[in-house]
Amino acid sequence: MDERKPLVIATRNKGKTEEIRQILSGYPITVKNLNDFGPIPEVKEDGGTFDENAYKKASFAARVLGLPALADDSGLCVNALGGKPGVHSARFAGKNATDAEKCAGLLEMMKNAGDRSAAFVCVISVAVPTGAALTYEGRCEGMIARQPAGQNGFGYDPVFYYPPLEKTFAQLAAEEKNRVSHRGQALFELSEEFDKVLKWIDLQMPVAEKLSGNQTNI
Ligand code: IMP
Repeated sequence: MDERKPLVIATRNKGKTEEIRQILSGYPITVKNLNDFGPIPEVKEDGGTFDENAYKKASFAARVLGLPALADDSGLCVNALGGKPGVHSARFAGKNATDAEKCAGLLEMMKNAGDRSAAFVCVISVAVPTGAALTYEGRCEGMIARQPAGQNGFGYDPVFYYPPLEKTFAQLAAEEKNRVSHRGQALFELSEEFDKVLKWIDLQMPVAEKLSGNQTNI
């Protein structure tokens, strides 16, 4: 019998799924994402914090699928803008704005700002069908550049200058960025205690689910 337990990443993004699959590859789990299941309603990301949105996505997928699920929510918080765009990072500058337009919009808002400090934040929520969840947070401090630089990455990477490496995130190779980024750090926190997470999931899963799997922990 396959002892590997399923963990659903509540996303349809292949890159994100693959990154998490690699980080958790040493554990007895099978990483799936929403594309492995039939149609599932979209969750409205209308929470006021990264925690709320990550939890909404993870707990909804866990409830609907009856499986443990992991979701992340992330964004850029700029101090001179009172923490904006924050949870609105994806929709900032309009729903259909391109990444280049989002960066240009941000630079325009920042043109007279003295304080250019900012942070990328990522919250990961791991939830089970009962609604219980664990939370991990990663944060990466940097500065908003005066102009975009670099071609790699996505979103606000060209305007996020990372002082320790003297480059914007878009000037870093993917591995370099993952080592220091908000998402990389949150995933590192999770992977550091993933043994405990697996035990927690096992204790939290509904009885019917346990009976169909390994019964030794009941
Ligand atoms: P999501 O929560 O991962 O979907 O990210 C929300 C939005 O935050 C993205 O659409 C980007 O605009 C921004 N964002 C999050 N992480 C990054 C990053 O690593 N680089 C650049 N932009 C990011």
